[in-house]
Amino acid sequence: MKDLDKKSKQYLLDSIRDVKDFPKPGVVFKDITTLLNNKDAFNLLLDHLSSRYNDKNIDFIAGIESRGFIFAAALCARLKIGFVPIRKPKKLPYMTISQKYSLEYGVDEIEIHVDAFGGIKNARVLLIDDLIATGGTAKASVDLIKQAGGSCIEACFLIDLLDLGGSEDLKNMVNVYSVLEV
Ligand code: AMP
Repeated sequence: MKDLDKKSKQYLLDSIRDVKDFPKPGVVFKDITTLLNNKDAFNLLLDHLSSRYNDKNIDFIAGIESRGFIFAAALCARLKIGFVPIRKPKKLPYMTISQKYSLEYGVDEIEIHVDAFGGIKNARVLLIDDLIATGGTAKASVDLIKQAGGSCIEACFLIDLLDLGGSEDLKNMVNVYSVLEV
């Protein structure tokens, strides 16, 4: 597995746009659309993730709605493996398993199809999202993968907002890999 050098990390970081006060005052939103529309940056990222995961015997990649879908599905195509969506409530059409999790104010919920891993026992699943902040979404996703009969071998993020401590917390449940730490 090839590590990403400092220059490449900086290139990826520079390809992501910071949008201040979105979606509410005080938040600096990491806008990954500027990475996606830069073919060199997007391919650099996919080359790196392919080299990290191509010999890990992964059966499925689960992506978290919605930006996680983009990276997860693109990597699935590279690795020739199946994609599983983890979605907001009432979006998945078939029978689902749900998991609630706490937000700063209130609760949220995510869902996975009961047969997401197509009957493969203890399927080896990689979880992907664009960013980890408090880690609430990722922790609930790891739980869902387990409840659906899968085994989450790693949770992978493009960006880790270190100050929010989510990845430290998640490491108690699963291996965590973040391409960029901010
Ligand atoms: P959390 O559950 O707090 O770790 O939040 C992670 C989810 O919220 C991910 O799906 C991110 O896409 C989104 N998110 C949280 N904070 C930001 C941010 N500053 N910029 C972009 N996306 C964010």
